[in-house]
Amino acid sequence: MSKQAPVVKNETYLVSFEDLTHDGAGVAKVEGYPIFVKGALPGEEGEVKITKVNKGYAFGRLLNLKNESPFRIEPNCPIYAKCGGCQLQHMSYEGQLEAKHKQVVEVLARIGGIHNVPVHPVLGMDEPWRYRNKAQVPVGEREGGLVAGFYQQRSHDIIDMEQCLIQESINDDIVQQVKKICEKHGVRAYNEERHSGNLRHIMARYGQITGEAMIVLVTREESLPNQKQIIEEICNISPKIMSIVQNVNNKRTNVIMGDKTKVLWGEEYIYDNIGDIKFAISARSFYQVNPKQTKVLYDKALEYADLNGTENVIDAYCGIGTISLFLAQRAKHVYGVEIVPEAISDAKRNAKLNGFENVDFAVGEAEKVIPWWYSTGISADVMVVDPPRKGCDEALLQTIIDMKPKRVVYVSCNPATLARDLKVLEAGGFKTVEVQPVDMFPHTTHVECCSLLVRKN
Ligand code: SAH
Repeated sequence: MSKQAPVVKNETYLVSFEDLTHDGAGVAKVEGYPIFVKGALPGEEGEVKITKVNKGYAFGRLLNLKNESPFRIEPNCPIYAKCGGCQLQHMSYEGQLEAKHKQVVEVLARIGGIHNVPVHPVLGMDEPWRYRNKAQVPVGEREGGLVAGFYQQRSHDIIDMEQCLIQESINDDIVQQVKKICEKHGVRAYNEERHSGNLRHIMARYGQITGEAMIVLVTREESLPNQKQIIEEICNISPKIMSIVQNVNNKRTNVIMGDKTKVLWGEEYIYDNIGDIKFAISARSFYQVNPKQTKVLYDKALEYADLNGTENVIDAYCGIGTISLFLAQRAKHVYGVEIVPEAISDAKRNAKLNGFENVDFAVGEAEKVIPWWYSTGISADVMVVDPPRKGCDEALLQTIIDMKPKRVVYVSCNPATLARDLKVLEAGGFKTVEVQPVDMFPHTTHVECCSLLVRKN
């Protein structure tokens, strides 16, 4: 039954904001009908002009505030409004953590029907700035020179960026200097529309524990003019640079990296540690972008797994085996499964690098491989899942229910699919004991959760 929207385009309304959307806009309601307004915070009251009316909701622009949230602050970053990489810098960090907690509690209740489960306060960072270890910056041209920065919101115009406050400073510095060096040596930027030019992205990655840096130049062409001089000058940026890599991507695509990678100078890998475990990171490897908070999250997963060395553990959606190796420190055996073959090669290499012999990794869909393992007699005492945003496949949830592990540790980057899946597992004989949200991406709306489920007897 569709009822008429209670607001009219271009009209002004005085509204109260109750909530935040997943992309950080304020939500106000007029006769129960939601209006999304960028820049408004829960608890605020203000005048908005309606800019677009849809069937079940409208968008508005904030004209003025009558009542400010105690959490409202001036954003730290001068380009916050243009960039779109962060969504919550106009809210104090304390306010952000509170909002993320509220979001998890509400979504678990609304979607999962989970009401009386402790959701602990979000574990945030002491210093929530400069946490990202990887910069991946598009390159363009303006007035004959190169620009490297970010796409202006809702466009593909590249705005030059001196620094990003959530990025490691060394990455900012590397990107700017590499840009200047390439410009000096006549490298042309890639032009998306004409599919011409060469340099598409500059990527810088930094091992926060080891202090090793890698630079990747993503180019359209195999050749790079004045390559020798460029490499020499890039090497001079910092003694921390251990690896310079070129990745060739000659496709018309938004995907950043292409299939061909060659080392221009130095090593194929840099190394970094999370806790006691060492990881080899190549240009195309997935590696957590906030390793400090990753450690916090995985320590929680390990605590919830409560291992004493006798358990078989399955780690579904294992990526490069980060959680698997954490668990392998205390488990009898860990089986990891992941869909991306390169990630499994990394996982195997990382297992060897750290001397683990009690792990096995398989390439494939978790929802196919794990039922197959189960049919051959491989079962889990503890099951760990860390799926992508869309959550676990139904077939996997059913296998977990059939397999009856003692405990399930569910690591999730999307509270909505977490709630949906917990509901299925609860109906299948498990009980959610507690949920620990962790803030992996301060100033953005993302929130990660680690949840513990046990079998009801
Ligand atoms: N646990 C890892 C990675 C989690 S991200 C870590 O902490 O680093 C989710 C992972 O699931 C990605 O690596 C993605 O490639 C993988 N994936 C996506 N769909 C999958 C599927 N159906 N089966 C197995 N892995 C999948």
